[in-house]
Amino acid sequence: MAVTINTDECIGCGVCVDECPQEALSVDGVCTVDADACIDCGSCIDQCPVEAISA
Ligand code: SF4
Ligand code: SF4
Repeated sequence: MAVTINTDECIGCGVCVDECPQEALSVDGVCTVDADACIDCGSCIDQCPVEAISA
């Protein structure tokens, strides 16, 4: 599993990218998650200012 990014809500701020210990998140306009790299640690979820990341 991996977290889900709501791309309608994501503003591409990049805050979550630095929170990820797996470097699973990247931003190119909006955020995308590498589902193979994400370990579901949850660190990124509370960091998103627009609550675009969900477990
Ligand atoms: S849940 Fe953890 S491993 Fe997965 S994208 Fe968020 S910070 Fe990275
Ligand atoms: S923290 Fe939220 S709004 Fe910012 S890039 Fe990540 S998912 Fe998008």
